[in-house]
Amino acid sequence: MGSSGKFDQRPAWTRDRILESLGESAVRLIATIVEHAHAENVEIYLVGGVVRDMVLERQNLDLDFVLAGDAIAFADKLAQVYGGKTERHIAFGTAKWKLDCAAINKMSLGSGAIPAQIDFATARTEAYRAPAALPAVEPASIAGDLRRRDFTINALALRIEAGSCAWKLLDPGNGNSDILGKKIRVLHDRSFIDDPTRIFRAYRFASRFTFTIESGTAAILREAIPVIQRLSGERIRHELDLILREAYPERIIADLSALDIFAQIHHSFRINRRSAEQFRRLREHMPKLRGGSDDVARLGWHLLFSSIAESDALLICARLDLTRELSRSIAGFTRLLASVDWLGAPANKASAITRFLDGISDTALRAALICCIDDGAVKKRMVLYREDWRHRRTTIDGKDLIRAGLTPGPIYREILDKLRSAWIDGEIETEDQERELFLKMVNKVE
Ligand code: ATP
Repeated sequence: MGSSGKFDQRPAWTRDRILESLGESAVRLIATIVEHAHAENVEIYLVGGVVRDMVLERQNLDLDFVLAGDAIAFADKLAQVYGGKTERHIAFGTAKWKLDCAAINKMSLGSGAIPAQIDFATARTEAYRAPAALPAVEPASIAGDLRRRDFTINALALRIEAGSCAWKLLDPGNGNSDILGKKIRVLHDRSFIDDPTRIFRAYRFASRFTFTIESGTAAILREAIPVIQRLSGERIRHELDLILREAYPERIIADLSALDIFAQIHHSFRINRRSAEQFRRLREHMPKLRGGSDDVARLGWHLLFSSIAESDALLICARLDLTRELSRSIAGFTRLLASVDWLGAPANKASAITRFLDGISDTALRAALICCIDDGAVKKRMVLYREDWRHRRTTIDGKDLIRAGLTPGPIYREILDKLRSAWIDGEIETEDQERELFLKMVNKVE
């Protein structure tokens, strides 16, 4: 296998092997890009996760290219010739080429799976001025570019060339052998200090592939845990969001929690002992969830807070720079979990419960349902609220109040609320009964 930056000369990386992994359309897309690079006289490599996943025989259409040349100009030229749009990040020397139907037709890619966008980067190295700070980047060789990466398994590059010759694997960290040995290993000892987001990434990849973190890597990872405190909320949020989109987030969460990593994010961030069970239940409900992984991740965000008080939850949300809307929803979720005894108490009327739950988002409610599934009385009331009570409306409205000669003011809301409560509590069941009750209320006011 390739090592010390040498090319792997095994004939394994043939078009057929790539075809098996990526499918005909994606291979045609790669061929178009390669021919373009050839014509421009630019060396181009397929790198990172897609190469790792080819070794693992896992489907991955996230095409990341690194080139020894100006990636932005290269992507712009592709868009000029074939169509689509580019999104440039000049500071990093990277560009995304976003394909549209016209570009797909022009390249005759067929109807197979292709990515919606393709990433191009100029080969670069990174210099970290301070632990956990964003690095300064400089152009480099492909070998230099691979050495800046997080783990050996992600530091693989395929040099792709036009024509049918076998592609060459560049593997400076022996990533291929770590994939076969199921190991997560960093490329240098300062890796986690430079960028502690790699701590989250290490556990995410370990869980996804059922790999183990190699012992030397595990030791330097543990030493770098306090540096997590220096990471911006946005960067931690991004990592947690990726974890919540994994197939088994609870395993990663348990690993991170065992190392007290949540407490590094905020001292009151603690994970519930039952959280694994809650994530399992979330998975059972997944087929019914709308919105795919966004919806699952949103629910997951709530479950992370299932043993946290509302006041602490708001501080943690601020630390993670969560949107105001998500923070409010999570705060409502913690409020709801703190009120389950009250919700289940038979003396509390449906209308009182409705008033309380009206202030809580539907995602928070669904997450709370996952947590309270074993509490029959509470679950029943939350389900009744979602399916029935919250939809109840009065037939009488403001116009009826004006017609009845009442002076506009807080009394309007009071009367309408009382009428809605009467519907919800089953005290009235017909429009005639509603009108009768309404007239009684009007007479009382007068
Ligand atoms: P996934 O399958 O989860 O998308 P990926 O390996 O494709 O995983 P990305 O986050 O898309 O991961 O990053 C692409 C590549 O960039 C990685 O394979 C890795 O080589 C490199 N990389 C990403 N994040 C870091 C980091 N924090 N430090 C160093 N290298 C990184």
